Amino acid sequence: MSKTYDIVIIGSGLGGLITGNILCRKGFKVAIVEKNPYPGGCLQSFEKDGVTFDTGIHYVGGLKKEQVLYKLFCYLNIFRDLNIREMDVNGFDRFLIGTNEYTYPAGYSKFQEKLESVFPKEKDAIVEYINKIRTIANSVSLYNLKPIDYDPKNFYDKFTHGNAWTFIQSITKNTKLQHLLAAQNSLYAGKPESTFLFVHALITNHYLEGAWRFVDGSRQLADALVNKFTTLGGDIYFSQKAVQFRFHQDSIQSAVTDKKQEFSGKRFISAIHPYHTMEMIEPDKIRRSYRKRLQNLDNTISTFSLYIVFKDGTFPYMNCNCYYYPNGNVWGLSYYDEKKFPQSFGIYPLADSIDKKYTRAISVLAFMDYREVEKWENTTIEMRGEEYEKFKEIKSQKVIAEMERYFPDLRTKIKSYTSATPLTLRDHTGTYRGATYGIERDCRNPNNSLLFPRTKISNLYLTGQNLSLHGMLGVSMGALLTCSEFMDLNRLIEEINHG
Ligand SMILES: Cc1cc2nc3c(=O)[nH]c(=O)nc-3n(C[C@H](O)[C@H](O)[C@H](O)COP(=O)(O)OP(=O)(O)OC[C@H]3O[C@@H](n4cnc5c(N)ncnc54)[C@H](O)[C@@H]3O)c2cc1C
Repeated sequence: MSKTYDIVIIGSGLGGLITGNILCRKGFKVAIVEKNPYPGGCLQSFEKDGVTFDTGIHYVGGLKKEQVLYKLFCYLNIFRDLNIREMDVNGFDRFLIGTNEYTYPAGYSKFQEKLESVFPKEKDAIVEYINKIRTIANSVSLYNLKPIDYDPKNFYDKFTHGNAWTFIQSITKNTKLQHLLAAQNSLYAGKPESTFLFVHALITNHYLEGAWRFVDGSRQLADALVNKFTTLGGDIYFSQKAVQFRFHQDSIQSAVTDKKQEFSGKRFISAIHPYHTMEMIEPDKIRRSYRKRLQNLDNTISTFSLYIVFKDGTFPYMNCNCYYYPNGNVWGLSYYDEKKFPQSFGIYPLADSIDKKYTRAISVLAFMDYREVEKWENTTIEMRGEEYEKFKEIKSQKVIAEMERYFPDLRTKIKSYTSATPLTLRDHTGTYRGATYGIERDCRNPNNSLLFPRTKISNLYLTGQNLSLHGMLGVSMGALLTCSEFMDLNRLIEEINHG
């Protein structure tokens, strides 16, 4: 490659694509280098029996006019390309906790009303909870596209609001209400002892403001972002796995791929897991302690996904997700036991354009420890052997059996199914040990949980879910933070606010 780019981005997931688009819009000459033959990482969808399944985005918030992602997608000029469906405002998430069933409606007043109707003696606690969540969510300027006095020295001070479960337990002694308020914790692989209150607050707030599904798959977002990126003059290279950074003195000069292609640039942004970013740097180019720190960060647990296709017209479409906690405790990861898999799980009916009355398919997600599949870790997709296939089948049957408690005639409706394990997630996205949401945010260890775009190498930056927060909201806002290294953040925020 003789061309020298202003900026070379490694990875075309949501983080790489949003960062790339903003930089291109600002006139930088940008290349994105992607290991897969397609873009998107977790945004990717795949086809099975004529149905489109999502791999890593099942629903998102913030898309109502004037909300944060709506404004960002308008600024990026992609909002009109998206086919989205608003989820049931009277109950976009359903929870079965023990023998009780609850719903989360969209909008704070409806949410408050609903909770108060179920827990009439807990009105004070409910108001206190809502006030706290809103206050925290509103206090982080970047997440509200408000002007910000960005200084890495104190940026995360606003984020470190203690422990979510401690707060919830402090406002009510009613254990049923406590568990309900923590019941979305699979959206951040929550743990009672370590989940930040800010993570809980930002994600709860994000969905309570409204929830949407991508009709016919979230891949459309990746396609729209690639489309705009290339129209703006960006270059994207597929099937090029970056394996090494080549240096000139103390700065990176190029990224070299497994195909021996070299992408030269003035600056580099890694939108992949920090563990693998560090692997691309020769030992003498970075301090051992820094490398060790980034490679020893704890990671979130991985996921087993079961993708079920239904016979036509058999499974009514639910415009909501359902989370199942049969033993009444929503903190699944604190009692995780591989022998009892799946102890809790979530189901996500697909929104497709063909049939709105019946769903043609659902994704079922249950956390799974990477150690369960570690013995096949040196194998590649489709080549993992018979024993692995048997393992997947056993786990799929366990999930189906557990679902039958809630859907007794489920088996008669199933046309086909397939599954994905932590190894699929690892190989598809390149995330370390298939970590569902990248590195773990631990409120007991904030310095090791929240990263900055700037690294110890002068022209290397980070973006993506490992920066400060995962998910559509976290990664999008992280992209703005990374872009602030190349432009005035407040001007960018102003431009996004004004379309
Ligand atoms: C099962 C699951 C369900 C989820 N559900 C939701 C949801 O409903 N809503 C929500 O908001 N969030 C959800 N998330 C989280 C969300 O999908 C992610 O936080 C987000 O998409 C991550 O974006 P990213 O760009 O940081 O990383 P990724 O999407 O992982 O992208 C990284 C990209 O880098 C590429 N890459 C890796 N290594 C290299 C290399 N060496 N060279 C070149 N390219 C490389 C990968 O192929 C990939 O394309 C879910 C995640 C999972 C796993």
